[in-house]
Order: sequence, then C-alpha cells, then structure tokens
Amino acid sequence: MEELHANLAELNRAFCCGKTRGVEWRKSQLRAIIRLITENEAQIFEALHQDLGKHPVEAYRDEIGIVKKSADHSLLHIEKWMAMKKDWLPLLLFPATGQVLPEPLGTVLIMGSWNFPISLALDPVIGAISAGNTVVLKPSELAPACSSFLHRIVPLYLDKEAIKVIPGGSEVAEKLLQHRWDKIFFTGSPRVARIIMSAAAKHLTPVTLELGGKCPVILHSFSGSDLQVAVKRIVGGKWGPCAGQACIGVDYVLVQQKDAPVLVELLKNYIKKFYGEKVEKLQNICRIVNQNHFDRVRNLLQDPSVSASIVYGGSVDCKNLMIEPTILVDPPLDSDIMTEEIFGPLLPIITLDKIEESIDFINERPKPLAIYAFTRCKRFKERIMQETSSGSVTFNDIMIQFLCDSLPFGGVGESGFGRYHGKYSFDTFSHEKAILQRSYFLELEPRYPPWNDFKLTF
Ligand code: NAD
Repeated sequence: MEELHANLAELNRAFCCGKTRGVEWRKSQLRAIIRLITENEAQIFEALHQDLGKHPVEAYRDEIGIVKKSADHSLLHIEKWMAMKKDWLPLLLFPATGQVLPEPLGTVLIMGSWNFPISLALDPVIGAISAGNTVVLKPSELAPACSSFLHRIVPLYLDKEAIKVIPGGSEVAEKLLQHRWDKIFFTGSPRVARIIMSAAAKHLTPVTLELGGKCPVILHSFSGSDLQVAVKRIVGGKWGPCAGQACIGVDYVLVQQKDAPVLVELLKNYIKKFYGEKVEKLQNICRIVNQNHFDRVRNLLQDPSVSASIVYGGSVDCKNLMIEPTILVDPPLDSDIMTEEIFGPLLPIITLDKIEESIDFINERPKPLAIYAFTRCKRFKERIMQETSSGSVTFNDIMIQFLCDSLPFGGVGESGFGRYHGKYSFDTFSHEKAILQRSYFLELEPRYPPWNDFKLTF
C-alpha cells in the first residue's frame, strides 16, 4: 500500500507540474509506444505464445498492428483534437465569445483484459496520453507473460514519472480501487464492472466500461457466392481472434431452418481448411487461457441438455487446454450456452422459421456489444439498425469495426458504456471545458434588481 501511495503521489506531482499537458510530451510518448512495440516484436510474440498460444500472424494483426495504427492515428490528429474550438453564443450575450477547451482529467486507472493483453492494455493508454493524463495501467493477471513484459518494458520507453504499470490480480485491483482516480477505464466482465462502479461511486469517479455479451450473427443472404464469403468470414471471425475468446467475437448464428444443413456443411469445410481436424493437431488457433476458463467452456459443452445438439467437433485436449471448434444446432435456449457469454470456440446455430424473427430474438436478450448481419436487403438492414440496440452493427463482415478509428467503440446496457478509439479515446480521457469571454462593454440594466413589471416583460 505504501509503495502504491508513493507511485500515485509521483503521478499526481507529474500531472500538477503540467508536464503532460504540452503537445510535445504527448507526441514523444506516442512515438515511444511505437518504438516499444516495434523494437520488442519478438518478445511480444513470445509472451502471447506463452499466455495463449497465439500465432505470430494473429499476434501482429490483433495486437502489435492495432497499437501501431492507434498511435499513428493519434500522432496525426492530436493537434487538431487539442485545439480550442469556437462556438456560437446567443445574441443576448453580445459582445462575447464561446469556446470549448479539452483538458486532461488527471490521473487515470486503466484495467486490461487477458484476451488481447497487449492491444487492450496499450490502446486505451494511447487515448489517455493523447489527452494529457498521467496513467496507471493494471494488466490482467490471467496473461502473466504479457503482464510482466509490460511491467518490465514500459518504464524503459515511457516517462516513468507519468505512466506506471502495476501488475497483479484482484487483490491489487481492490487496493487500486480504494484510491481516488480522475477516471477508471475498465475492460472485462459485467460481474467485475459492478465492483468497479461501486468503488468509483464513492469518489464520483467517471468510468468507461468495455464489457462483453452474446454477439449474434444474422445470416440472411443465401445465394452461392455471398454465402461462401459470409461463412468464410464467420469462421475467420469466430475462431480466428483468440479462439472465440473475444468480446466482439461471434457468440451464435441465427439462420432460417431450411438453410441450416448447408450452413453447417460449409462451416465444417472452412474450419478444417483453416484450423485442421483433430483436437491434438489443431493449428493457427489459440488455446483456452487457463484451467478455470477451460473448465467453464467444457461445462457449457458437456451439459447433458446440450450434447445432443453437437453436430461437429466437441473434443477437448485437457493437457494443452485446447477445445475443438464445435458447432451445435438448436441447443436449448435456457441452457447455459445460450444464456451466458460463451467466450470460447463453441458456435451454436439457432434456427428460425423466418429470418425476420431474429430481431425479436435479439431484443428479448441483453443488449449485445455487436450485431453482425449478412444481407443485401436494404429493408432488413434498416430494420436491424432501427429496431435493435447494440454497441455496433456490422453488415457483411465480422469484427472489422474494431479497426476503424473513425467509429466509436463501446457497448450499451449490459455490454458496457462509454466509447473509445481515435478521437473518441481522446474525448473519453478529456473534459470539455466551456470558456466564455465577455466584454465590459454593453450593460443590460434589466438583468439587475430592483425588479418591476417592466423587467418581467423584457
Ligand atoms: P474480468 O472481469 O474477470 O477481469 C478484468 C479485470 O478485472 C482484470 O484486470 C482483473 O484483475 C480485474 N478483477 C478481477 N476480479 C476483480 C475484483 N474482485 N475486484 C477488482 N478487480 C477485479 O474479465 P476477463 O475474464 O479478464 O475478461 C473477460 C470479459 O471481458 C468478457 O466478458 C469479455 O466480453 C470482456 N471483454 C470486453 C472487451 C471490450 O473491449 N468490450 C474486450 C475484452 C474482453
């Protein structure tokens, strides 16, 4: 606790002396993040392999590439984001000017998750630095190699007085949460998010909660080549990033009953092509992060009410914490696999009489972080956009919304609140201060007492 207080005191001093406010400091830290990522690629690959069995290509695409892209984007736009913006004022206040000045919040706490332990730690840090804050980053203890890499490497590249990595598990998190932060940015589960919010409430600390949920895919298009592309993207998006352990990964697919057999056959083909067949020989796919999560996902699969619906896969390799890509058709809707976030390589397919029923199906459940729909039908697209609620809607692809700095990324309802990426990250870690400057000229006497009937009509 003493060490923590000393760290926080140093961060507060760094913030109060104003060093993090200047554009040059912010840019130098963003450049340092790019150097950190570029010069330590091999160590990052190794840590991600140790923690999750992540292939270097996947690691580059989902972690290193994401961080570089975000830092580059911030470097390009930071001056524009920091600039004071003029705004119109009512004529009644003439002569006066109104401006909006983004100011840093102070010292912020960022808590990362284990599935993308580098990018989901450093991406929000980029936002916090761009906005001129001092930062404590607590990586997830469930990715220990990445957590210790960040703890070791960050002080070698970034300003030690302003950015600190404090590793540890829930006991460290609990201690951190006793402190008064100027902002808490949390990526994780709705269960822990509730703990974060009650700790933050004590100090009226604003929070951004990047949570998860069950992200559905609606498969509407069913012509030959569209279907091939759709299924390829579903397979790549479901099992590609971290073997389904992804907040915006595909949780389940909604399809018309008559189309399900064709869909299952195509899914099987692409699974075999991308990842191989036997659970012991799978390639290009992550393992489950640890024994607890392995048991959790295996229990979803081995629930007796669910096993009859497995149409592909279902094998597990306990020694290597691997679970075979598995397809289920119509598991019971009240089973855990259909009521809890799967966060693993299992894909339930839910069949409907008509695909339009998918809108009610989604609306009867908690608001997802993402909805995916494969369709060319403009009317159906319009209905999905207008009649459902989710963090995002992506048509005809999976997960690519995460790459877009020009779009806000975040949830709604049970999938979280607040948003980040690009300018939205800068805004998340800034306060927009209203500045009004009035002239001494032109006094309107009716604004002052004594009141009389004339002033009432004025
Ligand atoms: P988690 O909630 O278990 O842990 C996240 C963080 O909370 C970790 O840093 C952990 O140390 C801390 N923590 C754990 N218990 C705590 C406690 N009792 N008190 C205080 N802090 C505590 O989540 P997870 O298992 O790391 O990640 C899985 C969840 O995260 C899924 O629900 C997933 O959808 C979500 N997620 C969301 C995003 C997103 O960007 N929206 C990204 C990745 C993961």
